[in-house]
Amino acid sequence: AKADGKGRARLFEPAMDAHLLFRKTFEADLRGALQRGEISVHYQPLVDTETRSICGYEALMRWQHPVRGWVSPAEFIPVAEDTGLIDALGEWVMRQALQEAARWPDHFTVAVNLSAVQFRSGALARTVISALAAAGIRPERLHLEITESVLLAASDQTLATLHQFKNLGVRIAMDDFGTGYSSLSNLRSFPFDTIKIDQSFVRDLSTGPEALSVVQLIISLGTSLGMETTAEGVETEAQYACLQALGCTHVQGYLFARPKPARELDHAASPPLPE
Ligand code: C2E
Ligand code: CA
Ligand code: CA
Ligand code: CA
Repeated sequence: AKADGKGRARLFEPAMDAHLLFRKTFEADLRGALQRGEISVHYQPLVDTETRSICGYEALMRWQHPVRGWVSPAEFIPVAEDTGLIDALGEWVMRQALQEAARWPDHFTVAVNLSAVQFRSGALARTVISALAAAGIRPERLHLEITESVLLAASDQTLATLHQFKNLGVRIAMDDFGTGYSSLSNLRSFPFDTIKIDQSFVRDLSTGPEALSVVQLIISLGTSLGMETTAEGVETEAQYACLQALGCTHVQGYLFARPKPARELDHAASPPLPE
């Protein structure tokens, strides 16, 4: 057993070291990314299903590493959350997105994602108010997207912050709806303005009646609660037609546009119609 243990140690230690080294390097790189200008924001249009026209954008954080190239947010956001870097990165994205939105048509909305970690500092509401004022954006145009993880850990302070946003007129969207724990009770704990239907349900719309039933249920739930419903990950006309028929108010997805840098946005472009 002893020899076995030694053998194992020899086998696994270098791998562990490599992993740890990678993680430490990754963290150090992320720590300096903002100052080095490697962080940017891409924008994906939000399409109104009543008019099939663009009515706003979601801001999505991007990291272009000098060696590794584009790093997926799915990879660096969790590290930013663990290290506390998300506060600075999140504030930067918020200010950037609001400044950008000031150049868009005045009725366009701007959606910004918030991590549960950002609610811990107690400074979030002040930051948002200051960023709105600096950009001169009406609070109603800002949509803050939170996932169920925010409510899972919801302290009184988190709920107070959310209500502060509501009182300001800022809109709150529940992101990735249906993928977290106790989705339904979360809808009761806070008056959301929008439910975002997770792209996994949209993807499976054509593969069977189950996803269709779930999507139908979420849309009627949202509608009856007076909320808007946004479907994410819409890639085909068939998905779009189905969602529109079900009464989904907004969609987002590659069918219309991938997230793009601000300078490449074309607000007037009506999303392409089917042949
Ligand atoms: P999310 O908020 O659910 O954002 C939607 C994701 O779906 C984005 O991935 C977007 O590029 C992608 N997407 C949009 N349309 C389609 C489509 O038609 N098909 C497919 N397959 N994907 C589509 P992205 O940009 O890689 O972001 C991943 C996640 O990282 C986001 O999910 C969000 O949770 C997080 N994230 C991104 N930016 C920020 C940020 O500024 N702050 C925080 N806290 N999280 C962020
Ligand atoms: Ca989102
Ligand atoms: Ca989402
Ligand atoms: Ca997501």
